[in-house]
Amino acid sequence: ARLANQIAAGEVVERPASVVKELVENSLDAGATRIDIDIEKGGSRLIRIRDNGKGIPKDELALALSRHATSKITTLDDLEAIVSLGFRGEALASISSVSRLTLTSRTQAQEEAWSAYAEGRDMDVQLKPAAHPVGTTLEVLDLFFNTPARRKFLRTEKTEFNHIDELIKRIALSRFDVAITLRHNGKIIRQYRTAQTPIQKERRLATACGSGFLQHALVVELAHGDLKLSGWVCSSQGARAQNDIQYCYVNGRMMKDKLINHAIRQAYESSLRSDQYAAYVLYIDVDPHQVDVNVHPAKHEVRFHQARLVHDFIYQALQSALQQGAL
Ligand code: ADP
Ligand code: MG
Repeated sequence: ARLANQIAAGEVVERPASVVKELVENSLDAGATRIDIDIEKGGSRLIRIRDNGKGIPKDELALALSRHATSKITTLDDLEAIVSLGFRGEALASISSVSRLTLTSRTQAQEEAWSAYAEGRDMDVQLKPAAHPVGTTLEVLDLFFNTPARRKFLRTEKTEFNHIDELIKRIALSRFDVAITLRHNGKIIRQYRTAQTPIQKERRLATACGSGFLQHALVVELAHGDLKLSGWVCSSQGARAQNDIQYCYVNGRMMKDKLINHAIRQAYESSLRSDQYAAYVLYIDVDPHQVDVNVHPAKHEVRFHQARLVHDFIYQALQSALQQGAL
């Protein structure tokens, strides 16, 4: 079973950032409003994620580390989603098969916290009492310590950390209701505070994308029936240095969609000079029945039932925002 886990790990765990992704998604699934992330040496030495979510009951700790131990399949719809998403209930098992993993958790109903430790091929999960508030901490030490080929494949500490930073940025820009702290080698690199008011949201935007982006950003806010577009676009040359900021969320999920990209690019092309560059953080909200997100989750693509309508709405909304900004 351990070998199977290690093979599965090859699919799920490509690099430290993939571990962080799985763990943070678990924290969000558990309803956390606060997530603290500690990274050492680009994640190859340590990845520690602490949340204030609902926690894992003592008698489910060992189970959480075993394969197909998802607690999240309850309906047929879920099952269908799993078929398309793959790898459900495998993340922790896979990660623990290629690291030294400690899972510590406490639920509201428990007086004390418990810790489970798993290391590489060793399937015996030992439980120990621990000190921990309600919530969960996952500690992943020495990633790929037992798969040298994979360990060798890792890039520099800086590059691996940048992948993590980028991932957290994307999550931070879609979950303003969750406070996230990201540390590298003991130093706070990003501190995303929860944001409700427009000013707080702009502060978070600046934390993620830099104050330069914020300075040149125009607010977009437009609705057409069930369709809503909001966010920020950059219409200035100042955006040039930020040319990698092109984020788009559909119903809260990060997407890289051809139709949306095309509409955005067209709007920019018709509004901007050629020396200006497209930078944006945009949120599209649409009736969930009007969109299929399961088309290809790995590619972050969506299929809108009314593709033309969505395209033109985005195009026109952005074009008018950009033209107003240019005045
Ligand atoms: P999946 O997320 O697909 O269910 P995982 O291997 O990522 O599979 O996690 C296994 C199980 O462990 C989850 O279903 C959940 O019950 C539990 N779990 C993992 N991380 C957390 C967390 N941070 N808070 C609460 N429960 C968690
Ligand atoms: Mg998971």
